[in-house]
Amino acid sequence: MRRNIVAGNWKMNKLFSDADDLVNAIAEELRSYDTSDVDVIVCPPFPYLELVSDVSEDGDFFTGAQNVSKFENGAYTGEVSATMLKSLGVDYCIVGHSERRKYFKETNQDIAQKIDRLLNEDITPIMCVGESLDERESGRYLEVIRTQIEEGIFHLSADDMQRCIIAYEPVWAIGTGHTATKEQAQEVHAFIRNLIREKYNDDVAQEVSILYGGSCNPTNAKELFAMEDIDGGLIGGASLKHKDFIEIASSF
Ligand code: PEP
Repeated sequence: MRRNIVAGNWKMNKLFSDADDLVNAIAEELRSYDTSDVDVIVCPPFPYLELVSDVSEDGDFFTGAQNVSKFENGAYTGEVSATMLKSLGVDYCIVGHSERRKYFKETNQDIAQKIDRLLNEDITPIMCVGESLDERESGRYLEVIRTQIEEGIFHLSADDMQRCIIAYEPVWAIGTGHTATKEQAQEVHAFIRNLIREKYNDDVAQEVSILYGGSCNPTNAKELFAMEDIDGGLIGGASLKHKDFIEIASSF
């Protein structure tokens, strides 16, 4: 059965000493909460992965990366491979975040390749999908999500599909303070789960955790996570404050 998950995406924030303070504060804060029914994941920038991975060994959380190369290894200056991530103790990796789609022109085909690289290394992909404001307002949002899912992840076998996490992140909600309502989020989560059911079967659909991301905070997390098809959150801004992040993680 699918797990509850809260993953913090630090994006391109924090200097090394601040990252050190933050990850240790998260580990400390987690000691006073019962988070047995949730997997907590911390996704720092690449240079801090080893630090976070070291602290996570004695802490009640996992280490995630924010991106991975679609290539295996070799002459790809500036890239970081799935094998490298594995060697640092990384267990999860975000792929296809809307900021990567927008600023780095990542396509659904790139994302599919990245997912394959990660699964080869036994790293769990957290695949992001989501529509723009224009796509929502014109009523095309479900079709956009369908294409992202079909082209990005539906090449997988049923076994591999069950090893993945999907994050629904409406672009208009990311970093804007405009959270999707619980009904808006639930509609898309149920739609995604149904796509998985139609492509594979109900067992697979019930196995895949589907996270919500977009201005999730300690005030709105509880009502979002209470929805039937929302299995947790991918948290940006609020993951940079350890108390807010852990409060969100204990909102189930
Ligand atoms: C994100 O970028 O994945 C995200 C959800 O950001 P925020 O929580 O800041 O909206």
